[in-house]
This record gives sequence, structure tokens and C-alpha cells, in this order.
Amino acid sequence: MFVLSRDGLPLMPCHPARARALLARGRAAVARHTPFTIRLKDRRRADAEVSGVELRIDPGSRGTGLALTETRSRMSPDGEAVTVRRGLVAIELRHRGPQIHQAMVRRAGYRRRRRSAGLRYRPPRFTNRVRRPGWLAPSRCAYCGASGVPLNIDHIRARARGGTDRPANLLLACVPCNQAKAARPVEDFLAHRPGRLAAVLDRLRPSLGDSAAMNATRARLILGLEGTGLPVRSWPASLTSANRTSAGLAKSHTLDALCVGPLGLGEGGAIVRRATSVYVFAATGRGSYARTTPDRYGFPRLLRPRQKRHQGFASGDLVRATVRKGRWAGVRTGRVSVRSTGRHSVATPLGRFNAAHENLLLLQRADGFTYSWRGESECGE
Ligand SMILES: [Zn+2]
Repeated sequence: MFVLSRDGLPLMPCHPARARALLARGRAAVARHTPFTIRLKDRRRADAEVSGVELRIDPGSRGTGLALTETRSRMSPDGEAVTVRRGLVAIELRHRGPQIHQAMVRRAGYRRRRRSAGLRYRPPRFTNRVRRPGWLAPSRCAYCGASGVPLNIDHIRARARGGTDRPANLLLACVPCNQAKAARPVEDFLAHRPGRLAAVLDRLRPSLGDSAAMNATRARLILGLEGTGLPVRSWPASLTSANRTSAGLAKSHTLDALCVGPLGLGEGGAIVRRATSVYVFAATGRGSYARTTPDRYGFPRLLRPRQKRHQGFASGDLVRATVRKGRWAGVRTGRVSVRSTGRHSVATPLGRFNAAHENLLLLQRADGFTYSWRGESECGE
């Protein structure tokens, strides 16, 4: 449980049982519902001791691992002081990049269909592209070796199977080969020609997209962290994975984060505690600018109203619903999707139901994230 001081600054996180006791005695108040955070009424940051606590970050392109750790000194069996690390809180932050990418691919699909279906469309612009003088077209099919025939651009890993347009995924194929292969996996298509298959697969190198994204954002991340005014240190990712292997931990962003920074494994240092469950903070965005929802063909299905708030609720808000009768009778907590009629839809882990706005109580405003839990990966490989 996260704890804030009376003046709203972070203190040492505490056990849920301790938080319950503090709330029951009136020494604390609930500051935030999810993730659960209390604020102490009788302690200022200056009076509390928060030492040896560090936030360790393992940034990735799709997700980031965060580990809040405490460094403690303790006596080893042979009477020497060693520093050990305790993991207090583990958080997995899921980024929104893949979701945005997927939405843009979907939009491109809608637009492409408008062109091919003879509807209102954006005129093609390839007529204004010029080839340099003396350019010769490559002239051999990569699958059967035919030359002097019209060639198509073939996706080694088909677009229908998630293949991309990056050059390493493209080659030239004659029309019959291109059509015969269609969306089949290349391993299947060239199963009877292992030599040719090996040559094609050799072209298909793993994408560098994820590491390129990290290289581009790392400096920016450090700059942003330094803006908080707290001391910031960076540490090479290769040493992190070495630390993790020596500590016998499985691979996950949160366990990597726990292993960031010098552990002093040679001098008796160790990780003596790790969080058994992980907070999952998934970025969901704050709704969409588009005021229409498309159907499966990309045509407008319904018009969304201009305003996002209805009867004081906006989609994504965390609410407590009191349902008087029926299948969902009881008090339930979930995320609301607003309807202009005032009967909003509430999504709970058990399912979705409708409830009138009079029966809803706002617990927390939507902040662009959903919060859940998962168990931490097991030790060792
Ligand atoms: Zn061919």
C-alpha cells in the first residue's frame, strides 16, 4: 500500500494490514482508490525516515518494469557487514504504442477499401514519383528464378500474418509464385526447396524496431527523470541481465528492474525479498478525438456527442454501483462507459451491466490507465 505524509509527499509503503489498522484508528485517510494510497494525518515528511529507498527502472519499448527497493545493511554469518536489497513494490507499466499502431493500421485499411470499392477516396499520389535515369528493374523471381517476366513485391511474412513493409521482409516474385504463395508461411511454400528457403530466410532478419525505439528514447527518459530534482543514475542493460541470471531470477520487466544497479554479489550482497505480486498499470489513453465509431467496413456507425461528461461521469471513471434487483443485485465496483441517456454501462471483472446514474458513486476519475494485478514470474530458468 502506498503511503503519503500529511503534506502529501511519499513515505515508506506499508502492508495492507497496517493500512487497515491506521484507517480504523482514524490516523489515516484514503487518498486514492486505485492503486490504494493512504495519507497519514499525523506525520509530516520531515518527521519520517525514508532511507535507502530507490526506484529502479527497466525501460522497454512495449512495457517498462519499475521496482521500488530498500537497501539495508546486515551482518553476514562470518560477522561482516553486507548490503542486501529488498524489493518493496513491483510495477509493470504497459505502454500504448502497440495499441496506437494497431489503430492506425486499421484506419489505413478502411481508407484502402474506400479506394478499391470505388467510393469517395484520397487520390493516389504515386504518379508524381520519378525514377532516376538509367534505372533498371531487378528481374528475377526470388522463389523460382524466372526472369524476363513481370514481377510483384512479395512479403516474405505475409501482411495478413502480421508481416510489415520493412525492406528486409520484401522480395520480388513472379506473378504465379506471388499468387500461389498468397498468405501462406514461406516455410510451407518452399518446403520442397530447402536451399531456396534457406536463402530467403537469411534475408528475414529480426526487426530492430524495438531496440531502435529504446535508443531514441533513453536519453529523453533520463532527462525527464532528472527534471524531478532527485539523484538519477543510469546503468547498462547488459549488466542488469547478468545480475538477474546470477540472482537466479526469471525474465520479466519487473525482475529486471529489481536487478538494476550494482548488487555486490561477490561481496555477499543479495536480493533478500521480492514482491510476489505485480501491479499492472496499462496505458489506455483518454478516449478518442474521432466523434464517430466505424463499423467493420469503416463506415460511420454512430455519432458520439461532443461532450465527454454525462451527469458528472466520463467513460473510464471508477464507480461504485448499487444495483437493487436482478442478476447484478448488490454493490459493485467497475469502470463506467457513459451513455447520453443516463443509463451508463459498468464493466466489472465479472461482466458488464447497465445502471442509472443516480445509483452510481464516483470513486476515482479516469486518468488514462487501467490498474490490475498479476503474479510475479517464478524463480530460475
Ligand atoms: Zn516465381
